[in-house]
Amino acid sequence: MIVAIEQAFERGLVTLPWMDAGTQARAQAKARGLSNMVGYPDRWRDYSQVKVERADYFGAVVAASRAELAREMQKADRPVDRQEWLMPVSVLNAYTNPLTLEMAFPAAILQPPLFSIELPMAVNFGAIGSIMGHELTHHFDDEGSTFDETGALAAWWTPAARAGFDAAASCVVSQYDAYEVLPGLRVRGKQTLGENIADAGGLNTRTRPMCDG
Ligand SMILES: [Zn+2]
Repeated sequence: MIVAIEQAFERGLVTLPWMDAGTQARAQAKARGLSNMVGYPDRWRDYSQVKVERADYFGAVVAASRAELAREMQKADRPVDRQEWLMPVSVLNAYTNPLTLEMAFPAAILQPPLFSIELPMAVNFGAIGSIMGHELTHHFDDEGSTFDETGALAAWWTPAARAGFDAAASCVVSQYDAYEVLPGLRVRGKQTLGENIADAGGLNTRTRPMCDG
């Protein structure tokens, strides 16, 4: 499903009138280089050194904190572990890591009503598929797009393509600025822009702006 969505995204890229061929080629390279983590990690985190006593809550918190600190400290001076999951598999969520060009879909989110092997694929694409598209789009939203195909923070868009992106994004900002959450309280579209671009992109699996003109 993710591969199909990535391919649809790539087909959309080449239809963007404001994106020049050079930027398109790099965006395609970036989309093709993304790695997907699905379900659960190949290697489970080892908690065998964490001693937990049912009658000692404070001691359990300290032991867990110690183990986590030691795990983090061990990363120093080592290459990035690209197999590491930043979210437990029991969390009903998904994430994108712009630095490592990854998307992760923990087991907890791959359940009904979002996904089931029993459901017609059209239903799955309409449910978990839109979330896959959402995470994919994050790699190209107002923040994700500032990371290039190696995960480095870099100005890899031509100024003209960036101006086209900003013009399209301003439509999304205006759309969300108009939403009144409570009487007199509106969404600040600029602040929620990345999520809104990801939502629109995820449903569209094309990268067309939401409004014309
Ligand atoms: Zn998001």
